[in-house]
Amino acid sequence: MKILLATSSAHKITELRRIIDASGVDISVIGLADIDPYPEPREDGETFEDNALIKAREGFAQSGMPTLGDDSGIEVDVLNRMPGVRSARWAGLGAGDGENLALLIRQIDDVEPAARTARFVCAMALVWAEGEQVVRGVVEGTLASSPRGSSGFGYDPIFVPVGETRTTAEMSAEEKDALSHRGRALRAMIPYLKALKD
Ligand code: IMP
Repeated sequence: MKILLATSSAHKITELRRIIDASGVDISVIGLADIDPYPEPREDGETFEDNALIKAREGFAQSGMPTLGDDSGIEVDVLNRMPGVRSARWAGLGAGDGENLALLIRQIDDVEPAARTARFVCAMALVWAEGEQVVRGVVEGTLASSPRGSSGFGYDPIFVPVGETRTTAEMSAEEKDALSHRGRALRAMIPYLKALKD
């Protein structure tokens, strides 16, 4: 069984393949780079779930293959749960991870550590010929005041999951998968992926 992951991010494809392989499901994942190119839809939903569905529906419409779409980001409580769905473009359209991270660090600079609560959220949508399913994975944590660690991406250098002292950028890939929002969302999706094969 082959499914499409509606993303052009090589990083996300590697991460999801690793989690699917670890779950023992015999499914191969291909990305947008492996099929005929199509313009990616605008991610203009108000929620992570809306955006995950937008991506999965378009991938299924274009490819006819069961398609996973995901949308993720970070919610910071003192910022009214922003950046949220705007996480990838927090410092402006076209801003890179470094600029987005630097802006968030400035915005929480004068907030006391105990009030710097935040969470990573991932919504994952599966669209196939007979239906649609959306699941959500969350990891709660707090934000460090300066970046630490060099693995991961995005806001990982300042995110410290509950029960940890390290940021997610100081963890190995496998350690992050075990607790990450994407790992949790994908594991919640595994029963639906298994059902596709039956
Ligand atoms: P997406 O590609 O639309 O899901 O955008 C997600 C954005 O949220 C990324 O650009 C990152 O800034 C942030 N983000 C999502 N997941 C993670 C993570 O696991 N670590 C760090 N940042 C993340």
